[in-house]
Amino acid sequence: MSDPPTETPVEDTLVSGETDFDVPQAVLDRISNREFTEWYSEQQFQTNILEGQAYFNGPSPPKDPDRHSPSKLLQCHRKASYARQNAPREGTPPEGLFWIGTEFEEQVIVPFLQDITTQNTYVTNSLWIDAEIVVDGTELRVRGSTDPAIVTPDAEPLLVTEIKTTTSLDHLSKPKPHHRAQLHAYLFALDREYDHSVTDGMIVYGSRKTLNIEAFHIEFDAGFWERVVDWMREQTVFERSGELPPATPERDWECNYCSFKHRCGQGDSPYADIGYDGLLPAFTGYDRQNLVDYLEAHDGRDARLTPALAHQYPELVDEYGAYDWSCSRCSESYAWDTVEWDGNTDDLPFCPTCAESGVLVTVSGPEPHEQLDVK
Ligand code: SF4
Repeated sequence: MSDPPTETPVEDTLVSGETDFDVPQAVLDRISNREFTEWYSEQQFQTNILEGQAYFNGPSPPKDPDRHSPSKLLQCHRKASYARQNAPREGTPPEGLFWIGTEFEEQVIVPFLQDITTQNTYVTNSLWIDAEIVVDGTELRVRGSTDPAIVTPDAEPLLVTEIKTTTSLDHLSKPKPHHRAQLHAYLFALDREYDHSVTDGMIVYGSRKTLNIEAFHIEFDAGFWERVVDWMREQTVFERSGELPPATPERDWECNYCSFKHRCGQGDSPYADIGYDGLLPAFTGYDRQNLVDYLEAHDGRDARLTPALAHQYPELVDEYGAYDWSCSRCSESYAWDTVEWDGNTDDLPFCPTCAESGVLVTVSGPEPHEQLDVK
């Protein structure tokens, strides 16, 4: 009979590293931002399919000129058009803010409303709205879904909310006009749809830092709604004309947070008044996901990476392709990876052919308007 096994003290095992398991180096190597963002993106893809919202996966087509979303009202017309026409977004998508906003609404505000609502009234996560408006002969349509609403047992709305999270509640003495516009779109559409009038809403701001809230009771204001409808009509007219709207932000800070400020002319790059199509040739401030979204949205128009972006994201070249560097002096062109370059967009590479004859002139990728639909 063999001796009973003796227990090895845990400390000895950890110190000596003599365990039956390998050090999970493969796991350590995979804990990276790249791995995480790809995983998170796949999770969202699966969730959209699970929830019957597969249309959120992949790019959406450019919006019809007459159609408006409640969350996109009363903002800079040019910014709205860039977004509606799928112009490439600069910077990083605020996924964290979206996630916190959704969690705050679903995990905190909905249960709170359920607990405080009166007998025989209920809480619904959202209501679908779809309303047509004709103003001065222009047909407009506002479609979307509301935030949580208090409803009757027949699910008819009594009070609609708009929930926003914010960094701080300090200095928040009244709701922001574009949030008021969003709530007014809900009230206008629901009031039309139901036999009883729907005139009351709440805009609730939640602090991401303290979880305190500030709530504003809003009653439908016909004069304010007229201003919103006028904004929609103007946007529709701009969109139908196909022209880039003027750079007229609705709020002082709007350009600072705008995802199109470089192509618009409000960034520190040498571009201004660029249209909806094409990537900025000497700009590498596109986040990988935003870039992929743009390339996918314009797949049928042969969108590719600029040579500068091909240097930054070489792993995307196989799938999407890359434009050549080209020289405006000698008209020579070069594949993106055949010209040596350190990636500094302030110092684009010199044309090798011109350099041979002693002339230093930089090469660049095609201009934005030259990039799509090229045969
Ligand atoms: S940078 Fe300013 S003016 Fe230009 S599109 Fe954005 S918000 Fe409008």
